[in-house]
Amino acid sequence: MAMGHVDLHLHTTASDGVMSPSEIVRYAKVKGLQAIAITDHDTIEGLEEGLSEGERIGFEVIPGIEISAVHSPGSMHLLGFFLDIYHPLLNERLEYLQRARAERNPKIAEKLNRLGIDVTYEEVVKVSGGGQVGRPHFAQVLLKKGYVRSFQEAFDRFLKKGAPAYVDKLRFTAKEALHFINEAKGVAVLAHPNTLGLKGYAELENLLLQLVEEGLKGLEVYYPEHSALEVAQYRILAERHGLLMTGGTDYHGIEKNGLDIGVGRGEMRLSYSIVEDLKAARSRPLQSRR
Ligand code: AMP
Ligand code: ZN
Ligand code: FE
Ligand code: FE
Repeated sequence: MAMGHVDLHLHTTASDGVMSPSEIVRYAKVKGLQAIAITDHDTIEGLEEGLSEGERIGFEVIPGIEISAVHSPGSMHLLGFFLDIYHPLLNERLEYLQRARAERNPKIAEKLNRLGIDVTYEEVVKVSGGGQVGRPHFAQVLLKKGYVRSFQEAFDRFLKKGAPAYVDKLRFTAKEALHFINEAKGVAVLAHPNTLGLKGYAELENLLLQLVEEGLKGLEVYYPEHSALEVAQYRILAERHGLLMTGGTDYHGIEKNGLDIGVGRGEMRLSYSIVEDLKAARSRPLQSRR
């Protein structure tokens, strides 16, 4: 069989995507992909369903996650691939994050109410599709009820950091996240480095050196929002530090930004060899542990 292409960064209704895990697996197969990774934000709740649908229809699904880590000035997301989804430490750490979210979400609703906006937490839960609830779901409700004219306006006026209904989110440090990803046999990869808010190449290289010490194995080089120059730089950094190069579209099932699974805005075509590299990395022992 000829090698198909892959998409290693996807969201489902288990976090803030629009398709259920089964739907996205079927969609990927219809689109002619060879494998996908499901990488929901801070949760593995969609993985059992996604994996079993993959088995049912004969399509390779990689159990993954995308974890938000403490970082400034931008944001740091860490991907984990080939996780053991039944690993006790992984499950305990993610349950802790879910409890923190359960405390945060009603506070966002309360802040919106105090601004005179008629939004209940229950309405927000309803649009979330049964998965983890977060700010994108608040944005959807604000849009539906006509308080804003776009999803983005909801963030800009109310939900983003510094806006009046913002409530901070509990995050793990990169070191903590890398620890439990590795403990759960996951291969840890730094997602979309261009959101870190770093000033250039040297700062990113310093950060990578630190993260590699803490268990990082790869860099998400291929991503729709990366410029050609960024991709070139990330490739050099990955090669220099022995990091795997992964990629994905970060598809959420929202067509408004013209992005589709597997191809991004048409420019992406990632080889299955990336999956083989990840598998090989998974069976290699960690170089340093602390
Ligand atoms: P939460 O985990 O509840 O804080 O929500 C985080 C998600 O909200 C991210 O994954 C983005 O999809 C979305 N998001 C965060 N900041 C913004 C922003 N400034 N504009 C639009 N969407 C955003
Ligand atoms: Zn998302
Ligand atoms: Fe991300
Ligand atoms: Fe993502």
